[in-house]
Amino acid sequence: MKAYKETLSFLNTLNLKGIAGRLDEMIHDAEIRRLSYITFLNTLLSTEVSYRVKRRVERNMTGAHFPIIKRMSDFEFGRLKGIGKSEAVNLLDCAWIDNKENLLFFGPPGIGKTHLAIAFGVAAVEKGYTVCFEKIANLIKLLKTAEIQKKSEYRIRKIMKSSVVVIDEIGYTPIEKREANLFFNLVSEMYEKLSIIITSNKSFDSWAEMMGDSIMTTALLDRLLHHARIFNLDGESYRIKNQKKEV
Ligand code: ADP
Ligand code: MG
Repeated sequence: MKAYKETLSFLNTLNLKGIAGRLDEMIHDAEIRRLSYITFLNTLLSTEVSYRVKRRVERNMTGAHFPIIKRMSDFEFGRLKGIGKSEAVNLLDCAWIDNKENLLFFGPPGIGKTHLAIAFGVAAVEKGYTVCFEKIANLIKLLKTAEIQKKSEYRIRKIMKSSVVVIDEIGYTPIEKREANLFFNLVSEMYEKLSIIITSNKSFDSWAEMMGDSIMTTALLDRLLHHARIFNLDGESYRIKNQKKEV
């Protein structure tokens, strides 16, 4: 009993919570199955590693600030134009993240742009990558307050250190020239360092008007498009389709 108590205490001191949480069960199992010392040790360590990986994924999922969790398995490709199921499923391997490629989703409201962006983000977190989700309006707010607010500065730093940044809803709100500049600088810093997922209801040609500066917009698009997969989605709005179904 003394050895058992002492072991638990060592595990806690060493912060081996995964082993500590399942010690009884693992000792019992090892006794029944007469595991060799090395197999038992291996089981203990692999339990700790799995526990830590799981905790890290949970932390990253919370830290991503997804507005809601959406998955590719809940997405109906149906008659949606612009992305095919096999293409989307292939992208779940996340090779595009290793290649620092961007995913750009364009299309009218309710077509599933945000759903897809979140689904790719969630898949990335589950594979061990770090992701940050922000609507453009909030991202700009963060950029504008980063110098005076610790919380904003911290978030921007976190965004810059992540593997994928999802920037949602570009185009719904006009952006002032100064704001567009801050955004441009951010994208320039991200260029070829991390992957960007963008959703927008406005096609590229209307971006200059939205940002109020055509030269800067060209430079911005240049960086976004250099290593990018572009999805021009079209079809019926899922929101309206569902409303019709209910009626
Ligand atoms: P968008 O960002 O293009 O305006 P959303 O991704 O927010 O559209 O989609 C609106 C709602 O409809 C969300 O709840 C989303 O999960 C759902 N939705 C949209 N398209 C699909 C689809 N093809 N399959 C399943 N759900 C969808
Ligand atoms: Mg959206």
